[in-house]
Amino acid sequence: MTYAGEPGGTGPGEYRDELEIDLLGRRVRILEISREVSTTMPIYPGHVGVAYWPHVTHEQARQRLPDDSGFKGYAVRGMVASEHVSTHVDSIWHFNPDRPDLTIDRVPWEHLITPAAWCDVSDVAPRTHITRDRMRRALDEAEVELRPGMTLLYHTGAGELWAEPLRFVAEYPGLDREASAWLLDQGIVNLGTDAVSTDNPADLYYPNHRTHAERLVIHTEMVNNITRIPRHSEFWVAFFPLRLVGGTGSPARALALWEVDDA
Ligand SMILES: [Zn+2]
Repeated sequence: MTYAGEPGGTGPGEYRDELEIDLLGRRVRILEISREVSTTMPIYPGHVGVAYWPHVTHEQARQRLPDDSGFKGYAVRGMVASEHVSTHVDSIWHFNPDRPDLTIDRVPWEHLITPAAWCDVSDVAPRTHITRDRMRRALDEAEVELRPGMTLLYHTGAGELWAEPLRFVAEYPGLDREASAWLLDQGIVNLGTDAVSTDNPADLYYPNHRTHAERLVIHTEMVNNITRIPRHSEFWVAFFPLRLVGGTGSPARALALWEVDDA
């Protein structure tokens, strides 16, 4: 039997974005639904992207070590970024100036790890609105019944433009006021989209951000791999934003999880 950390072994193995694990006594499939954080990823217009720099190199670190040290030194990069790069959770404070208490470090876990559903509205034209009727139809088609405490992910198709940054940040639809309010009436605690924003870029009234501000519900942007989740409901999501004190949002690792059928 081989084990991680075995002398002369192969290390942790290759990164995979989807795999099966044992979790809490169950056989569970996990799919990463977060994006990379890179210097080449698309950035929302006006936001700052990410920059990395070598802060300490292995060679520099070695200069502190005794000559006979077998340790080859350590490397550390510095980084700067907007709180809204890549897959990220928006805090209430991001869109509600009256609630500086509801920052990203204060989001309850009950709103980050939840039962979830997803639906497809990719036929809605970019720079137009996703209406309440269109959203209800998408949920009907997916045979999804939203329940309080759930997260809803909706697929606009914009995520397929990730490799074309200028199009990715401009060509997507957003929820109108009625659709936004109706979704929150169903009791969802988080709303995720594959697009760079939940709001139609041609609508500067920001109906979705405004509605979430009034109703004090978070949302999550640039969610990845939504259409790879093989069922529209009966799965869970887990978002892990960093605990940035006072944060308007944070990039997040995120997973979709579902129990493997014992067929
Ligand atoms: Zn944001």
